[in-house]
Amino acid sequence: MLRNHFETEHNLFRDAFRSFLDREVVPHQEEWEEAGVVDRSVWRKAGEMGFLLPWAEEEYGGTALKDFRYEQIMCEELAAINEPGFMIPLHSALCGPYIAEYGNAEQKARWLPGIIRGESILAVAMTEPSAGSDLAGMRTTSVDKGDHFVLNGSKVFISNGLLADLVIVAAKTDPSNKHAMGLFVVERGMEGFERGRNLKKLGMKSQDTAELFFNNVKVPKENLLGDAKGGFFYLMNMLAQERLTNACGAVAGAEAALNATIDYVKERKAFDRPVAHFQNTRFKLAEMRTQIDVAQVFTDRCVMDHNQKKLTAEVAAEAKLFTTELLCKVVDEGVQLHGGWGYMWEYPICKMYANARIQRIFAGTSEIMKEIISRGMKL
Ligand SMILES: Cc1cc2nc3c(=O)[nH]c(=O)nc-3n(C[C@H](O)[C@H](O)[C@H](O)COP(=O)(O)OP(=O)(O)OC[C@H]3O[C@@H](n4cnc5c(N)ncnc54)[C@H](O)[C@@H]3O)c2cc1C
Repeated sequence: MLRNHFETEHNLFRDAFRSFLDREVVPHQEEWEEAGVVDRSVWRKAGEMGFLLPWAEEEYGGTALKDFRYEQIMCEELAAINEPGFMIPLHSALCGPYIAEYGNAEQKARWLPGIIRGESILAVAMTEPSAGSDLAGMRTTSVDKGDHFVLNGSKVFISNGLLADLVIVAAKTDPSNKHAMGLFVVERGMEGFERGRNLKKLGMKSQDTAELFFNNVKVPKENLLGDAKGGFFYLMNMLAQERLTNACGAVAGAEAALNATIDYVKERKAFDRPVAHFQNTRFKLAEMRTQIDVAQVFTDRCVMDHNQKKLTAEVAAEAKLFTTELLCKVVDEGVQLHGGWGYMWEYPICKMYANARIQRIFAGTSEIMKEIISRGMKL
């Protein structure tokens, strides 16, 4: 279905980003998958090209492109090449905005230029071994010691966990109020800040997902973002944008899986005819085509609503729920239509299947999305 919300400048941006990926990412994907992490140098190259935080103000080195369609394009193109480790959306559309939105002028001047150049890679650390969906159940604490805070606790499943130079860490700040938490920027090299192993995962092999440990880390007062008790609100506020990036990537991922499957079933023969000619195949592909088109229209509308600051947390949750469930359905059908070859790592559909599964879990599970949506229905 023809999409109608992109203008010429977006198409030019897409061409530039796609050729950057073809040049700097695609040739390295196998090597990064083996290493379990992408090379730092690609972050700097992306920075040089203006692909990191393109929305940021020019005074920090950004290009002030305050239009979420550019973020959408990058999510889509990364999904199209099935690259899960080079997490520009996490850096640009999730972590960076915390600093831009809740940081003061001094913090923005200190951190944003390096972040935009790709020299300082970002991560956000909310999840703990015993608290994921229930963020208010986290145990990491931060105690005010006058001119600094002392941070203690641990985090798990942190994307960019090994590469990150600046980690936005959520920690409890008032034992009498479970929703009182602050967001603290912990920097590479701070005493007491340790990283665990690169966790072995079902998919997303090129992404470094790690445990982080904080043992009496002295965090200067200047590294607190906003109010020491406002972090829970800040997290909830930003999660809507994160969920929209998930939706943008999920629809594009479903499209890529559909295309890979179409290519395969046209080539593969069974009972003297292409697998594409069986009615079951054609009906499955027709269903996928229809559902992806519907999801795309909804997601594009969410992007435009977000540009006008009208996207609610509930609708962002609907977008994430619908598109990530659809993605998982499409990759599953795709594997089925590939037969045994679909289970082989050398086939793109196999990696797509493995990479997709987490989408229904991170940034809030599908069940939590349903909680958010139903809360909005005032049942
Ligand atoms: C590869 C990967 C990358 C990640 N990256 C990051 C990151 O960068 N930063 C970060 O902070 N976190 C990250 N996460 C963590 C992720 O966001 C959490 O795993 C997710 O929020 C779920 O939390 P949990 O794993 O503790 O599951 P749990 O909260 O223990 O949930 C277990 C099950 O219970 C269900 N459940 C929980 N509460 C309810 C409820 N109220 N109603 C109904 N069902 C419920 C869940 O839906 C789920 O099915 C990442 C995780 C992975 C695997």
